[in-house]
Amino acid sequence: MSTASFESLHWSRRFLDETPGDQEVGGRPRQVPKVCWSRVAPAPAPHPTLRLWSLEMGQALGLEAGHEDILSGSDRVKGMDSYAQRYGGHQFGHWAGQLGDGRAITLGEVKTDRGILELQLKGAGATPYSRTADGKAVLRSSIREFLCSEAMHHLGVPTTRALSLVTTGEAVVRDVLYNGHPAPEPGAVVCRVAPSFLRFGSFQIHAATGDRETLATLVKHTVKHHFPDHQVKDDDGRIAWLERIAEDTAVMIAHWNRVGFVHGVMNTDNMSIHGLTIDYGPYGWLEDYNPNWTPNTTDASRRRYRYGQQAHIGAWNIARLLESIGPLMEDPERLHEVLDSYYAAYEKHNISMWAGKLGLDEFNESDAPLLEDLIALLQKVETDMTIFFRLLSSIQEPKVEHLQPAFYDVSQCPEDEWNGWLMRWWQRVDGEPKRDAMRLANPKYVLRNWMAQLAIEAAENDDYSVAEDLYELLKQPYGEQPEFEDEWFKRRPEWAKNKVGCSMLSCSS
Ligand code: AMP
Ligand code: MG
Repeated sequence: MSTASFESLHWSRRFLDETPGDQEVGGRPRQVPKVCWSRVAPAPAPHPTLRLWSLEMGQALGLEAGHEDILSGSDRVKGMDSYAQRYGGHQFGHWAGQLGDGRAITLGEVKTDRGILELQLKGAGATPYSRTADGKAVLRSSIREFLCSEAMHHLGVPTTRALSLVTTGEAVVRDVLYNGHPAPEPGAVVCRVAPSFLRFGSFQIHAATGDRETLATLVKHTVKHHFPDHQVKDDDGRIAWLERIAEDTAVMIAHWNRVGFVHGVMNTDNMSIHGLTIDYGPYGWLEDYNPNWTPNTTDASRRRYRYGQQAHIGAWNIARLLESIGPLMEDPERLHEVLDSYYAAYEKHNISMWAGKLGLDEFNESDAPLLEDLIALLQKVETDMTIFFRLLSSIQEPKVEHLQPAFYDVSQCPEDEWNGWLMRWWQRVDGEPKRDAMRLANPKYVLRNWMAQLAIEAAENDDYSVAEDLYELLKQPYGEQPEFEDEWFKRRPEWAKNKVGCSMLSCSS
């Protein structure tokens, strides 16, 4: 594809043309009833500098690295018609009313060979949905979003993508631990890309305000463009469409389980209608296999969004989406079918995910005790999830000594129990686990919390080499890449155990 400029992209305005919008352009934070969006211009950045660029997303759009003026929100071109989306959501289990894009501004939709993609700037200034906040984003959270969304893509986990990270040259003040110590940090803008940024909350807001007409219009628009195999003329069609969303969500969460990803803030406004991982905030990766772990300090006491509860929260969130479609149903009782289908889909995908991780031909009911005992053993002493499964993929005999690097304190390892379990597994697979499948289910490299933190600390000193190295490394998470083993295929270092940004993250971003 020849190199395009932003002017020559094929801009489209499907969402703006087909759904109702705010009469006012920009304006102060306020309630904006009966609309799906508000037109808003990004704020110019004093000194935009391109820092990270996704070659693959650039190629998808036909763009070469550069364009910092546009990607920071400082400049616009013909064809762009920028807006912030209005949505609501349940935050930590409670209805929060209108939320919306408080610090995300969509530049527009672009026709590409891969279909239409929405380009959105995160951190380019305030919108009518900013409430009391500034609409800006800091470098650390922007690096985390850029690296993690691209890493997730290469892991095969459904996700929104990132095109670029630009620093703005402006200081943004944040109180990282919400403890009365605000400090200036470098500001940044990520341009992220997805078929759309519609969320469960995009539908909830209209149902919650009794605006059936806008709800119906948004559903029609969504299905027409994003679910072309579906129609929603009757309850059968609506149920089939919702079952598709339920299955996509279940698939995404089974993938999270597989790679040890904890989203951290599974509020309904952070649930993509496409089943994509969206809104990278205080997410984290399991180091030791602890289903109770959450990286989000804001959720530390209740642990609502802990690793082991993500599938249940997925169901809870689907139930909220279903309630919001209720007003369009002739027989709302039928929505229960969708919830049942979510559980069935999750069960199916999660089980086949485990079959892959364990190298089984298929997962039979009789395999359940093997899996349950594995999950219990993994928690007995501190055991690194990623290293454990990666080494399991290549052991030649069922002996725990080959898995030693996974244990934080080898002297504590319950050797006999492990050897017993390994022997059962070995017999189950006849000494021939499906190694190729295992190596594709068990990544060698993931964006461990301390790895992202090292990239951030270097970048805050103007050194983007660590971020670049990690970006390259994580393009092949299933590759051996022996040259990177010593540095990145290892357990969490001691310094990272209780460090802010590694084991603890707040929503401050
Ligand atoms: P999140 O939990 O990050 O997905 O954000 C929840 C809500 O807060 C969304 O409506 C965001 O747009 C909004 N928000 C988060 N950070 C900011 C910010 N710095 N400025 C304005 N709005 C924000
Ligand atoms: Mg959000």
